[in-house]
Amino acid sequence: MPDGLESESRKLLGRLRDTMAEVAEGQERLDKITHLTADSMGTEVCSIYLFRDSETLELCASQGLKPEAVHQTRMKLGEGLVGRVARAGKTVNTADAPSAPGFRYMPETGEEIYSSFLGVPIQRLGEKLGVLVVQSKQAREFTADELYALEVVAMVLAEMTELGAFVGEGAALSARHTQPVMFRGAVGQEGTAMGHVWLHEPRVVVTNLVTDDPENERARLNKAVDELRVSVDQMLEGASGAAVETDQVQVLEAYRMFANSKGWLRRMETDIERGLSAEAAVEKEQSQARARMNQVADAYLRERLHDLDDLSNRLLRILTGQGRETGSEMPKDPILIARNIGPGELLEYGRKLKGVVLEEGSVGSHATIVARALAIPLVIHAERITNEALNGDHIMVDGDQGIAHLRPDDTVVAAFQDKIAMQAEAQERYASIRDVDCVSADGQRIELHMNAGLMADLPSLLSSGAEGVGLFRTELQFLIRNQMPRRNELVGIYSRVLDAAQGKRVVFRTLDIGSDKVLPYMKPQDEPNPALGWRAIRVGLDKPGVLRMQLQALLRAANGRPLTVMFPFVAQHSEFRDARAEMNKALERERKLGHPLPKTVEIGAMLETPSLAFASPRFFEEVEFLSIGGNDLKQFFFAADRENERVRRRYDTLNVSFLTFLGDIVKRCALTTTRLSFCGEDAGRPIEALCLAAIGIHTLSMRPASVGPVKSLLMRTNLAEVKAVIDAAGARGDQSVRDAVMDYLRNEGWALA
Ligand code: PEP
Ligand code: MG
Repeated sequence: MPDGLESESRKLLGRLRDTMAEVAEGQERLDKITHLTADSMGTEVCSIYLFRDSETLELCASQGLKPEAVHQTRMKLGEGLVGRVARAGKTVNTADAPSAPGFRYMPETGEEIYSSFLGVPIQRLGEKLGVLVVQSKQAREFTADELYALEVVAMVLAEMTELGAFVGEGAALSARHTQPVMFRGAVGQEGTAMGHVWLHEPRVVVTNLVTDDPENERARLNKAVDELRVSVDQMLEGASGAAVETDQVQVLEAYRMFANSKGWLRRMETDIERGLSAEAAVEKEQSQARARMNQVADAYLRERLHDLDDLSNRLLRILTGQGRETGSEMPKDPILIARNIGPGELLEYGRKLKGVVLEEGSVGSHATIVARALAIPLVIHAERITNEALNGDHIMVDGDQGIAHLRPDDTVVAAFQDKIAMQAEAQERYASIRDVDCVSADGQRIELHMNAGLMADLPSLLSSGAEGVGLFRTELQFLIRNQMPRRNELVGIYSRVLDAAQGKRVVFRTLDIGSDKVLPYMKPQDEPNPALGWRAIRVGLDKPGVLRMQLQALLRAANGRPLTVMFPFVAQHSEFRDARAEMNKALERERKLGHPLPKTVEIGAMLETPSLAFASPRFFEEVEFLSIGGNDLKQFFFAADRENERVRRRYDTLNVSFLTFLGDIVKRCALTTTRLSFCGEDAGRPIEALCLAAIGIHTLSMRPASVGPVKSLLMRTNLAEVKAVIDAAGARGDQSVRDAVMDYLRNEGWALA
């Protein structure tokens, strides 16, 4: 670009900065910006349109259009040329506006005399804030340099909006980050919480947007990029030294690629030449990446754009010197807000968090598993919450509905408090029955156990009233580390688990990895259908090293105490036999080494594939117990991916076909007197638990928080009657028995939600 243009652009930015520095009201500032932009671009009109709400734009300031139209002229997203720019987030540049597609005549503005139109979106980090427009009478297309200049003004406007520069008496804008906003996401972990925002990655605040000294800014940028490259290389070295190829390494490789990208650096340097500070240049690139991110459907590309976004954040932190430590103090009742978070990091925060809200995540992600273990309400898929929330904002998390209310107004707070109070009341009721056996109204004894996976779960064993741990998911200890745990470490953990259980039965499930549970330090398998792929016991039998190490650790941890082990995802008899043979070998080895053997060893299998329900009677005789993994069994029964939001709720667990199938398993176990339990998530849902118990599954294992509600319902219900209701619904041809059971409970006087 010729020197003249560069200095023009710098001059404009310099004037903008001076305007911003003046003590003035928001409206006055907006007016001045339109004035000086029109002046320096040589156009008759410059106007700023800002969003009033997510659908409506309002003319908030104008040089050239009729003053009475300001704050009067409004348009819907997509309406007119301005609405088109806003909706698509793309520039419109035309010499003949009235004949451009979408043009809408706004008589109150007097704009009919202007022929050319250039409109650019005002957006910050992918968030749409408004539209900046210049117009002139002369019919001409604006040049690339003019477009650039207007984009830069729009960017500065966006930054200033973020900093609250346009707020004040008679202001054009209400302050950002002050309005109540509701985020509708998805349920990660049930429960409700009220507290204050704690941002996992606090936003970097850029206050110096404009520079007169491009030389110096370029040097600052180059130095920061060098520092960034070195840090990425160091991270890569660290990661590849620790493990084989991993997701983490892939991300770092992407970081390195971007950090070394000449195009990236060149674009930022050009922005600096035109008058932006180094920080503003980085943020401009970041904003563009975010805008693209919102439009790209391809998951891989989105991931890479996320990587670029992360990298820009790192660069901004280097430039501004703002680390994660912002000096703000964590509130007493922190609700963690993040785009995403790793299981280890979440565990580090631990129980001090009252709730978690993520923009991404999935029901089966590691972070979700940890949140579940810690019983922290979690909302996932709360899009854009990291853009909106500020540290310390009041927030309410409704994990039951998958909703977060940021800066809620009084009516929402009151309704939420009522809900929390009702839950507290129910908790008191559960506490009063905690130490009594669960016996139904017609005298059937049902054992209620809890699912666990971390040491953090164990205190719940006493507080929930669970009779034991019906499923200890051992993979969690592997998932939260960035390297394979050593045997002695595992001995320590399992032994502490048994100590904490104080003689109550703990069913250790051997490593269930693969499918959704991918260890960060193991080579990811590129499988077309991971849920049907190389997972759980299949890995354990094909590569028995880890399984052997784990079995040995379990035997040593038992150290003379009873030990119960179950193998996951057994699909046929021989797999159980082979796995049990591994256990026998491990026992033999320990015996030879002279180590104390467990007092008793019980070995069972999880029934998670329909095939196992049809195994020979010999199998049912050989296993000492079976535990139905309902999450997997249901997904294979209905061929509906448990991770896929589109289908995972499509089929009801109380579907007659599924209950009939479960009932057949009960019958088969009865023939061979095989102990049977159910440990999928459904065991923790009171109505589902009731039906499972009614059809004869008398041991249920569930999240600790579910023990109270399930027990309370079971103890007051006549299971034989529920069984009759289920049979009648089946005979009638109902698809699901849910309605019939709910009607029955209502008739019995239950107030059901
Ligand atoms: C199940 O599949 O129901 C189960 C308990 O195992 P996981 O959820 O860990 O796959
Ligand atoms: Mg399973």
